[in-house]
Amino acid sequence: MMVCQLCKKEYAKDQAVWNCECGGYLTVTGVKKELHKEQVEKGPRSLWRYGGVIPVGDKYRVSMGEGFTPLIPGKDPGLYFKLDFVQPTGSYKDRGTCIVVSKLKEWGIREVIEDSSGNAGASLAAYCANNGIACEIYAPAYTSPGKLAQIAAYGAKLIKVPGTREDTTAAARLRAQEVFYASHNWVPYFIEGTKTLAYELWEQLGWRAPWGVVVPAGNGSLVLGLYKGFQELLSMKYIDFLPRIIAVQSENCCPVYQAFHGGLTTVPKVEKKPTRAEGITSAQPVKGPALLEAIRNSKGTVIKVTEEEITQAYQYLGHQGLYVEPTSATVWAAWEQINETGLAGQGTLVMVLTGSGLKAQ
Ligand SMILES: *Cc1c(COP(=O)(O)O)cnc(C)c1O
Ligand SMILES: [Zn+2]
Repeated sequence: MMVCQLCKKEYAKDQAVWNCECGGYLTVTGVKKELHKEQVEKGPRSLWRYGGVIPVGDKYRVSMGEGFTPLIPGKDPGLYFKLDFVQPTGSYKDRGTCIVVSKLKEWGIREVIEDSSGNAGASLAAYCANNGIACEIYAPAYTSPGKLAQIAAYGAKLIKVPGTREDTTAAARLRAQEVFYASHNWVPYFIEGTKTLAYELWEQLGWRAPWGVVVPAGNGSLVLGLYKGFQELLSMKYIDFLPRIIAVQSENCCPVYQAFHGGLTTVPKVEKKPTRAEGITSAQPVKGPALLEAIRNSKGTVIKVTEEEITQAYQYLGHQGLYVEPTSATVWAAWEQINETGLAGQGTLVMVLTGSGLKAQ
């Protein structure tokens, strides 16, 4: 079932919808949880090893080997890097896209559109190509050429929109009146994919929860996925506390940071400035209230980083052999502040590296 977070209207799982008729966003509820460690260990080397908690019918499940990415220790005690850019299209978005495209198959949808700052579009274009679904991607004209080339290589129709990220969304929303809007920010099943990140960390750390997880946040699909996954693990008594979710934003576009530290329960739109962290430039995230709730309930926080800190972190990670895009380097850019605020050294801390550096040029 899906439930609107504004008006509480319910939709059956076989209804092909991406939002509520009132304009609110939907979440998937009532997920059956049948997960046994022995079966997980014997499962495929992909996120489908957690198939027992993913609400898609068996015969619709698509896969290109997404998920089950490496977790490696960093130089500091207790610190780990989750190499979530080691995915079929080079970003963590494949987790969410895999489940969305499985659901599109279940719904019998053959044509979709999406708007993206690059990685989500590339991911959807790839999974659609692999599954015979026609795909149109709207991307800001300023998107990294590497990402645009990747989207085109998958054979998707690419529309470059001049102006801001918001202008791109507006153009896509207009087209969405005719074609199904498979937006990673809206289709609620995307989070059913990103939540596998929580399950994976739990398994890879020897069936235990990390103390905290550091992720970049734009619209917050990693924040919400981790929160949902850890909550499910808690309800199954597989873990006994909620790991802290530490979200990182660019100082030049940090609506969640401002709302969190301003004590608000919604996220007002901000004026933004250009940033190297192109993957997290949402002036107003779609699911603002849910993001704030997830971060607060987990006893986490939001950190903002400057352009200079992002550049230094990008270089530092490169010099560790970790070639990620500037958006992903934000998590390391937050390290000093994490230390200063006493969030380090309390237990295992995982930094999620979300996107490959190879296409961010
Ligand atoms: C999309 C993206 C993010 C941010 O994801 P949100 O769901 O918008 O918070 C972070 N890093 C990379 C590389 C991305 O592509
Ligand atoms: Zn509604």
